[in-house]
Amino acid sequence: MTTPILLTPGPLTTSARTRQAMLLDWGSWDERFNQLTASVCEQLLAIIDGAHSHHCVPLQGSGTFAVEAAIGTLVPRDGKVLVLINGAYGKRLAKICEVLGRDFSTFETAEDAPTTAADVDRLLHADQAITHVALIHCETSTGILNPLAQIARVVKQHGKRLIVDAMSSFGALPIDAREVPFDALIAASGKCLEGVPGMGFVFADKQALAAAEGNCHSLALDLFDQHAYMARTGQWRFTPPTHVVAALHEALLQYAEEGGLHARHQRYARNCQALLQGMADLGLRSFLPAAIQAPIIVTFHAPQDSRYRFKDFYERVKARGFILYPGKLTQVDTFRVGCIGDVDQAQMRAAVTAIADALHAMHIPLPSIGTPA
Ligand SMILES: *Cc1c(COP(=O)(O)O)cnc(C)c1O
Repeated sequence: MTTPILLTPGPLTTSARTRQAMLLDWGSWDERFNQLTASVCEQLLAIIDGAHSHHCVPLQGSGTFAVEAAIGTLVPRDGKVLVLINGAYGKRLAKICEVLGRDFSTFETAEDAPTTAADVDRLLHADQAITHVALIHCETSTGILNPLAQIARVVKQHGKRLIVDAMSSFGALPIDAREVPFDALIAASGKCLEGVPGMGFVFADKQALAAAEGNCHSLALDLFDQHAYMARTGQWRFTPPTHVVAALHEALLQYAEEGGLHARHQRYARNCQALLQGMADLGLRSFLPAAIQAPIIVTFHAPQDSRYRFKDFYERVKARGFILYPGKLTQVDTFRVGCIGDVDQAQMRAAVTAIADALHAMHIPLPSIGTPA
């Protein structure tokens, strides 16, 4: 079986080298495994230049586990979170606050409208009870980019704390902890670092984490404990995702070899450009204007045709070697194509050809070409 190329933003296409790193079994007491974990955390911190200000706390599970852990650990039980929403992942932040019993309010903009620093300034003036602001950097449900640096500045000016879900942007879009103040920034192994899914990590402000003892409602998701145990023993508190750590370590070596963040950003930007250009040539429209489109994932309007069914389209594109993502918008019919993973421009162009062929086979006219014979 030839494996299809995943154009989905996690799990995504990994390199053979990264997958091969999972062929060894590691013991969790093994000194070499502990060194692997320490090395991963060190390399992750270096990406945001955060070694002086932040701890990297890795956590078993998917990205949401780490987001829930960050909110549960860093927001005290009498805190209040302002949740900024312009898509499904922002809504998930609010849901987490609700389930954890943390007081919160929400501010929601349209799915194609970034939250602005002026919005946050106004909202913080209006409600002094807010202690924390929670933001999605790149909202993966559309691909929209929110202005993290400007919002972080305003939050800091108000003396409030920022929690950032940078799951789909970390490693590709620049974030500098020396310039962008935050209490927590969360990402995971299986996104722009091109590891396999299975662990998240939280960059937690050292002072904020030190003050967070006893905040958490959960044993397994307590980042204070997770960090304290790891600092003391060098080991994970509970069974580590050994193969995931080994794969991430190998993926980080390749990240450095490629040229680090700048090179990764450039490759994804080229992928995104090739995709947008190819789809525009077919006459398929993207949902977001270019100015707020992150080079991570692109949402396209589904063809306006009664014969279009996403499932059928998906299967036909898959048979041609590419896995797409369904849309995640409530109002409009869309589908999504990821630009991240171990893929390049040539593969993005091949994906566009597969999409054109699939629509042709479904007898769906392409706006640019007209009805197929
Ligand atoms: C992928 C992602 C997550 C985590 O989702 P999981 O399904 O738990 O891995 C959270 N936030 C954003 C913005 C993401 O892209």
